[in-house]
Amino acid sequence: MPPFDRAFYEQVRQDMALVEEVVVPPRDAATFTVPAGHLFRIVSIEGPQVGDLNLWNANDLSERFFSGKTRQLHATHVTTGDRLWSNMPFLRPLATITRDTLDWYGWDDDGGGVHDVIGTRCDPYTNCLLTGGEYHHCCHSNLTRALAAERGLTLEAAEAHVHDVLNVFMCTGFTRDTHQYFMKASPVRPGDYLEMFAEIDLLGALSACPGGDCGNQHSSDSAACYPLKVEIYAPRPGALDGWTTFARNGYSRRHGL
Ligand SMILES: [Zn+2]
Repeated sequence: MPPFDRAFYEQVRQDMALVEEVVVPPRDAATFTVPAGHLFRIVSIEGPQVGDLNLWNANDLSERFFSGKTRQLHATHVTTGDRLWSNMPFLRPLATITRDTLDWYGWDDDGGGVHDVIGTRCDPYTNCLLTGGEYHHCCHSNLTRALAAERGLTLEAAEAHVHDVLNVFMCTGFTRDTHQYFMKASPVRPGDYLEMFAEIDLLGALSACPGGDCGNQHSSDSAACYPLKVEIYAPRPGALDGWTTFARNGYSRRHGL
């Protein structure tokens, strides 16, 4: 595992300049781009709100965030110093978490934590399975619409690129007795943020989940929902001297033949 060089990321954060802000409307998603070596923050504004994040290589959508491997390499929930890894055959860090204002939460008495890579994303198929109904503003659909608009793709083509998310600010865990997934109201409050360093050129899509703080239910318009903000920061000149991006994984891909 490439070590987390805290001193490097701390000095990159010094005197960084805000260059762009994107507001994600409630029960909807928005896209944003982050050049390699820039930083971005997902910021809580107005009220407690969970965000579902997808990340792609901005120059090749076939490279995208790999939730399962990130969970395996780090933990069920991620925080400062952890990386968001890409899928095979690339398998390299897409982003490194440089600040987490909810790191105080740690693990609660139920075993819950924040920023999980265990849940997937709320989606209309599971909702249809469980309720028989149609709901069109699940995170899966929000991310699909946002990517389709960003890249001029059909909904069907965009949907194929949508993947398991980082559940930003979401509070989840597994029950101690039956090891079943649970969620509870997020402790996030306006002003909290999760900050990352882009290790490669990134295209991001963030959905402001229809579950709001996810203390109750998804897949309806009943929960209180708030916007989220994405802030993009440029490092000061010279801050990246000597830094290089991670190369894609070195495996030969011969698979024994
Ligand atoms: Zn959702």
